[in-house]
Amino acid sequence: MIPFNKPYLTGKEMHYIYQAVYSGKISGNGMFTQKCQKFFEERFGFKKALLTTSCTDALEMCAILANIEPGDEIIMPSYTFVSTALAFVRQGAKIVFADSHTDHPGIDETNIEELITSKTKTIVPVHYAGVACDMDKIMALANKYNLLVIEDAAQAIESFYKGRPLGSIGHLAAFSFHETKNINAGEGGLLAINDERFINRAEIIWEKGTNRSEFFRGEVNKYGWVDTGSSFLPSEIIAAYLWAQLENLDDIQKQRTKIWNKYNKGLMIWASENGIKLPLVPDYSTNNGHMYYLVCKSLEQRDELILKLKKNDILAVFHYLSLHNSEYYHEKHDGRILKNSDRFSNCLLRLPMYYELDEKQIDAIINLLIND
Ligand SMILES: *Cc1c(COP(=O)(O)O)cnc(C)c1O
Repeated sequence: MIPFNKPYLTGKEMHYIYQAVYSGKISGNGMFTQKCQKFFEERFGFKKALLTTSCTDALEMCAILANIEPGDEIIMPSYTFVSTALAFVRQGAKIVFADSHTDHPGIDETNIEELITSKTKTIVPVHYAGVACDMDKIMALANKYNLLVIEDAAQAIESFYKGRPLGSIGHLAAFSFHETKNINAGEGGLLAINDERFINRAEIIWEKGTNRSEFFRGEVNKYGWVDTGSSFLPSEIIAAYLWAQLENLDDIQKQRTKIWNKYNKGLMIWASENGIKLPLVPDYSTNNGHMYYLVCKSLEQRDELILKLKKNDILAVFHYLSLHNSEYYHEKHDGRILKNSDRFSNCLLRLPMYYELDEKQIDAIINLLIND
């Protein structure tokens, strides 16, 4: 049986967790949290990094920091995970869904300007499969209309746009360390802050609306309730696990991109002969080996491939159902048809992708697909 995903253990996780547990400090914002946050700030140039218990939490923090209020409009792709929208909907926002590109699932930047109104507050690009959105175009629109840009970089660790790390370009960004992501902590996330105006308030929101972080650094002699917030920070046990992963980021990335390239080479001819599209990585983006997907020519073709793989004990899965058609949101959607988003919902198929997927297994998957 080849699963779709298998969380990778570097081998040091239990060692660091043991260390955290026996240090006697296992609540949040301890040594491992600081180590992880410093890693992100130094490697990717974020002005401030805050660990969270999920990317969803980091997005909720973004929505609070952006002062999203009922009636505000947020522009984002429909082809994304629920959390991208949910974090803003909880603040009362209206989501204005944009369509994907014809040739890849990322938001079609040329589609955004016509969706901007006087109520628009924020654009949320999603770097699907770790492939960058065209950030120059998005930032130019944000400047022109005075909007915030919040990158959903859940899948985008160690990927770059014209040489700049994803998550470092928008005002704020959110990463995920869910067990399905390149770097995992079971559940985990990160808020990246690139606009310094947000740093102080972010720390307060992170620590249940208190100025405890300042107290912790010795900047004030007592702390108390100063703003809204929640318990967004993870325990040291999660941070310790995450640290073992981050130490091996280069190795993990090397292995995943190797798998990605092997799929791509092995499937190229078969795909073009069968009307199937392989993942497109625009020349302004790198590829971080997060996901290997096919875009089939029809729902029927996709279902046939899923079945064929399943009969041979290989688990391949489809991905997002367009959010504008969801049970929760379709009545609130303005009715525009988003045909590319719906096409990816119907035709996109993800192949097994995880560190320990070996060459023999990849060959078996490729051979099964290309031989009738
Ligand atoms: C995984 C994912 C999320 C949610 O991440 P969690 O850490 O599970 O909250 C949000 N957006 C995108 C695009 C994702 O892939």
